[in-house]
Amino acid sequence: MNHSSPFPRIAVTVFVAVTPMLLVRAWAADRITLTNSIDNDEAIVLLNGCSTEKVLRVRHHLDIDNVAKGSCLSEAIVFSSSNAMFLRENLEWKNNDTDTIDIALKKPVKVDVVIWLARADAKTGPDGAETHIKKANELFDNNKVGVTFAATFEEVFSDTDAVEKIGTSCSPLNVKSERGPNVFTEGSINVYYVTKADSGVTCKPQNPDILFIGTNASPTSLAHEFGHAFSLSHEDPGTTNVMVGGSAETRTNFTDGQAFRMNVKCSSIVANDPSDLQARLSTTPEPSHSCRHCDDNTGGSSSAGSEGCPSIDLDVEHK
Ligand SMILES: [Zn+2]
Repeated sequence: MNHSSPFPRIAVTVFVAVTPMLLVRAWAADRITLTNSIDNDEAIVLLNGCSTEKVLRVRHHLDIDNVAKGSCLSEAIVFSSSNAMFLRENLEWKNNDTDTIDIALKKPVKVDVVIWLARADAKTGPDGAETHIKKANELFDNNKVGVTFAATFEEVFSDTDAVEKIGTSCSPLNVKSERGPNVFTEGSINVYYVTKADSGVTCKPQNPDILFIGTNASPTSLAHEFGHAFSLSHEDPGTTNVMVGGSAETRTNFTDGQAFRMNVKCSSIVANDPSDLQARLSTTPEPSHSCRHCDDNTGGSSSAGSEGCPSIDLDVEHK
């Protein structure tokens, strides 16, 4: 009885098996692959250029619509937790062929921090430097900035000469040369925990590697000052952005536009270090320049700023 209709069954089988393959082939013209992801998180990939960004979410690989030859989406920026921000410039898209953009992620950029404890109660507890550095690492990682802080602690509060040299503020701005190795470490961010009733200050633009944290700091204050050292200015109050002034503990967010600037803007302490910058730039093809002078005009649109920097407002939801 059932032997009477074998052909329609075969026909249905062939249709189901073949048609989706044809659809996938026609659609999946280009491919982005990610390797070396430390957390295997869903990375944010921005194809950037000509006043626009194409926002993609990629875990291992993603097939995308064919990007036309000569497209102004000329670079790929990748944010992935526990990996360095990745930037590849001068992408060359072809028509018809499958372009594969292979992105080998790298370890996060490690920033050495020396925390000079110029007051006795500053290291431990909920308001201490240990809590602050942990919070800074958490905020930078949660927002996929690609930077990690390695702190060492120097207890100098009983050394009156050291405490005097450290002072309590950025002035005079030439203190660096007068400080000497017992209160300043070259090549590190130097953070001074002092008795001043203040949340914190970064001695920029002269000495962005010198920060002061006062007695009014909250656990988010150190991350906020690191943001200043990495080129960022204040954001308007009323949001949860880390760069809102004051010391609110509700500050949790860096935008992707801010994360890009911290890594690449010339006034950022890490973008100015060629070896650090090289850690996040793809070397093939060769990067065309070492750092960028991004425009911070917030504008409210997603249009790219100067020198191809994404808008500072660009903020992709991280899942
Ligand atoms: Zn500030």
